[in-house]
Amino acid sequence: MASALTEKLTRLVKEMRGQARITEANVQDMLREVRMALLEADVALPVVRDFIARVKEKALGQEVLGSLKPGQALVGIVNKELAATMGEGVADINLNAQPPAVILMAGLQGAGKTTTTAKLAKHLIEKRKKKVLTVSGDVYRPAAIEQLKTVTKQAGAEWFPSTPDQKPRDIALGALDYAKKHFFDVLLVDTAGRLAIDEVLMQEIKDLHAVLTPVETLFVVDAMQGQDAVNTAKAFKEALPLTGIVLTKLDGDSRGGAALSVRQVTGAPIKFAGVSEKIDGLEVFDAERHAGRILG
Ligand code: GDP
Repeated sequence: MASALTEKLTRLVKEMRGQARITEANVQDMLREVRMALLEADVALPVVRDFIARVKEKALGQEVLGSLKPGQALVGIVNKELAATMGEGVADINLNAQPPAVILMAGLQGAGKTTTTAKLAKHLIEKRKKKVLTVSGDVYRPAAIEQLKTVTKQAGAEWFPSTPDQKPRDIALGALDYAKKHFFDVLLVDTAGRLAIDEVLMQEIKDLHAVLTPVETLFVVDAMQGQDAVNTAKAFKEALPLTGIVLTKLDGDSRGGAALSVRQVTGAPIKFAGVSEKIDGLEVFDAERHAGRILG
């Protein structure tokens, strides 16, 4: 099925009919359509600029200028470049650590950290046959601790209790000790989020990272955040050595341009996509399929 972008480009090419061959100016016109498509998908502006510059270089080569179907040739280049930017083969969770392998979950409040923690627990139990412990370091919201308890049970993992009067660092160390003594393979650490970037909170998660030395530090980000995802991603990347991204709420109606922005800003691979509120709503991220979605 031709994408909306392919159709637009094909129309442009038809307007060029009569010309012996397409020109650099024609390619510019086509790139303008690509730019629009990316902006409509909510890819952040600086990321779009960078991306178009890269595509332009390739588009001015023979592949497009010399093609009988330059519109389609350009869409091919755009698709390939999108997929290459967003993905690098299969990127499952890395568990290459002395057990328990610690996975630290980072992100804004409401991004889907707690839900994703339970989804990952289920994934690791079912697909990787691991024994999984979860713990919440969110001492600001007792409801968040309870929420993790509930979803952990649904996932079939074990939950380590924590209370709002404890320090996150002590909670983490307690859980780590328990996980070691009881031979857990993986410890998933859910953390506090805020509605916006907050220095105190960033310091707290940095301290947690220092005591836990996680093998994975996952940045959980809401695909519906669109343009704002860039600033959030920047702040988390500066605070933490991110090893992967989980893009949540891809079942929403966004075109998911945040994937491209966040990937480019953090340099970390997008490992999973959240596709429902349910505990089994987690998929391994498919860059090629997602490229098609962004182009609409
Ligand atoms: P946290 O504050 O980062 O821990 O976020 P939560 O895990 O509490 O999630 C916030 C809201 O987003 C909840 O209502 C979740 O059910 C919902 N949610 C999380 N992930 C997804 C997803 O992939 N798809 C949908 N539709 N909802 C999600």
